[in-house]
Amino acid sequence: MPEECIFCRIVAGQIPADILYQDDGFLAFRDISPQAPTHVLVIPKTHIASSADLTDDHVELAGRLIIIARNLAEKEAIAESGYRLVINCRSDGGQQVPHLHLHLIGGRQLSGRLG
Ligand code: AMP
Repeated sequence: MPEECIFCRIVAGQIPADILYQDDGFLAFRDISPQAPTHVLVIPKTHIASSADLTDDHVELAGRLIIIARNLAEKEAIAESGYRLVINCRSDGGQQVPHLHLHLIGGRQLSGRLG
C-alpha cells in the first residue's frame, strides 16, 4: 500500500469515511465533496492507480466495480430516475486521486455535458 495514497489509507481505516459497502475486495464510501445528492466512490481495496493500469487480469474486478455501483444505486433509490458512472483517468481525464475509483452520481438531473 502506497503510504501517501488517501484511498489506501481509507481502506486501512487510517482516515474516516462514510462507508456504504465493503467486502473482501472493494469499498464504497460517500464523496467528501458531493456533486449531487448521491455521490459515492467505489474502489478496489488493492492499489491500482488508474483505469489505464488495468490489465486482462482485472476483467472480474472491473465488472464487480460496476455491479457494486449498480447495487448501491438501488439502495440509494436512484436506479429508476437514473445516474451517472464516471471514471476519470490521469491528468487530462481530471483524475485527482491516483487510486482507481468509480463515481456513482445521481439524485438530480445531471447536465448533458461530459467535459
Ligand atoms: P477524481 O477527480 O476522479 O480523482 O475524484 C476524486 C474524488 O475523491 C473527488 O470527488 C474528491 O472529492 C474525493 N475525495 C478526496 N478525498 C476524499 C476523502 N478523504 N473521502 C472521500 N472522498 C474524497
